[in-house]
Amino acid sequence: MSKKGDKWFTHTQEYETNGDPYAMKAAPAGEAICPRCKAIFKDKRWFIDEELYEELKDIETVPHIICPACRKILDRYAMGYLYISGNFWETHREEIMRLINNEVERARGLNPLHQIINIYEEDGTTVIETTTDHLAQRLGRALYKACKGDLEFRWSKGNKLVRVYWSRND
Ligand SMILES: [Zn+2]
Repeated sequence: MSKKGDKWFTHTQEYETNGDPYAMKAAPAGEAICPRCKAIFKDKRWFIDEELYEELKDIETVPHIICPACRKILDRYAMGYLYISGNFWETHREEIMRLINNEVERARGLNPLHQIINIYEEDGTTVIETTTDHLAQRLGRALYKACKGDLEFRWSKGNKLVRVYWSRND
């Protein structure tokens, strides 16, 4: 039974999703680093620590592994989509993109597996693809909190994909 439908209400620090095909099945015993995004793997989790990365990257015995987020980016495997539309977006693009980038940085600080895969335009809507369902939801909530407008979450039943729609027309 998937409890996915109400997960965003309970918003916990538990970011790893069970149905994620990119979740690491076999973890290295010690530390490892992702050379693409400079995340560090240790004690079964990924995190950002720039100083530690600089230290570890020169140690030959520390394995280099492409982290699940970077693998998704390379494969373009999105688990979240954020759709942004409306007049307000047209006239406030810069501020909204700044807000989104700040929110992504904050999310990555908590867990580097949250990343943006791609941003593109589709029929007058801007689409942001994210590596986790969590990040798309988080960005939608941040937009709603800062700019109001309309926010809607649509889950695809049975898998871990969320489509988040935010728009404001005034
Ligand atoms: Zn990475």
